[in-house]
Amino acid sequence: MNHVAVLVIGAGQAGLSAAHHLARRGLRPGADFVVLDRAPRPGGAWQHRWPTLTYGRLHGMHALPGMELTGADPERPSAEVIGAYFADYERAFRLPVLRPVDVRAVRDDGDGFLLATTSAGTWRARALINATGTWDRPFWPRVPGQETFRGWQLHTAGYPGPDAFAGRSVVVVGGGTSAVQHLLEIAPVAAAATWVTRRPPVFREGGFGEVEGRAAVAMVEERVRDGLPPRSVVSVTGLPMTEALRRAREEGLLRRQPMFDRVAPDGVVWDEGRTVAADSILWATGFRPAITHLAPLGLREPGGGIRLEGTRAARDPRVHLVGYGPSASTIGANRAGRAAVREVCALPGMPVPGERRPVFTP
Ligand SMILES: Cc1cc2nc3c(=O)[nH]c(=O)nc-3n(C[C@H](O)[C@H](O)[C@H](O)COP(=O)(O)OP(=O)(O)OC[C@H]3O[C@@H](n4cnc5c(N)ncnc54)[C@H](O)[C@@H]3O)c2cc1C
Repeated sequence: MNHVAVLVIGAGQAGLSAAHHLARRGLRPGADFVVLDRAPRPGGAWQHRWPTLTYGRLHGMHALPGMELTGADPERPSAEVIGAYFADYERAFRLPVLRPVDVRAVRDDGDGFLLATTSAGTWRARALINATGTWDRPFWPRVPGQETFRGWQLHTAGYPGPDAFAGRSVVVVGGGTSAVQHLLEIAPVAAAATWVTRRPPVFREGGFGEVEGRAAVAMVEERVRDGLPPRSVVSVTGLPMTEALRRAREEGLLRRQPMFDRVAPDGVVWDEGRTVAADSILWATGFRPAITHLAPLGLREPGGGIRLEGTRAARDPRVHLVGYGPSASTIGANRAGRAAVREVCALPGMPVPGERRPVFTP
């Protein structure tokens, strides 16, 4: 059995931000807190992203607190750039990340502590900062006939890049940024590419400033405060109209079809009798919070979500969720990490509540 004051689960942007602030507050890495991460390497979800998602194509990736990401080649895959940056960050701040450690369940031990059962033993902690993101829980909608499909079905989480679709007839499902990015990459090499979305996509023209950003985050925040499952920030902001999208629209690539009603062995079918032949279906249908390991804590509300006050779970003040709902962006994750640490350090029994000691700065 291992003992710490604060257990952080997940070493993506949110978990590393929290770890950084715990160290800044004077908690001793490895003794007072650890970060457990199931991934094989540094980089959080970024390490799994497809090779054509280059660093230059990200929208406003925010650096982790205290260390800028400078001089990165915009043509390099973001998986490599950010993986290397996170590795440097963990080293520079001597953050105690243990991997691969899969946290399977967190429960109350009945003595006021939280007990995490993992693939590498058990940790007992006074507080938990959960930063497990969404990548590990891709969402596949259920559509009749899906299991009869003879072609290739995959999700964004397994998207290998466009080359694998050369000469194929592809249906891309989903109305978010990932779907549009896949479509723009696949359409030029595929024999046919069909875009299907549940609702007509909303393209956002013009700039997206701080005011609009705040309004979008506030909408997601409200759902989480009401104990409803969070929606992604993009689902409330709409799709940003870029130069590439404008060109694609002019070329007719963004002609969207409504959601089909059935999957057949060799394509997709609408009830009115229309069929599109396909040998590949790419489900760009998003992700859900990877929080099944928290189920024994009983944090869920009847609405299906975990009600949060800031980052704190309303049903258990020892538990904070960062990178969840309104903080599921790189800037949101940074801020949530800091906010969670401020509150966790004020809990009774913490080693150095509120005290700040000098820490190593790279
Ligand atoms: C395709 C795509 C592109 C994006 N582009 C941008 C962008 O351009 N700009 C931007 O600001 N945001 C972007 N985002 C959003 C952004 O990536 C995330 O919101 C942000 O990185 C949040 O990181 P995180 O720390 O919450 O999660 P993650 O990076 O997913 O990290 C979670 C970590 O927890 C680990 N983990 C999960 N479950 C367990 C468990 N049970 N036990 C142990 N470890 C576990 C995982 O292995 C992972 O390492 C994008 C998202 C996607 C999907």
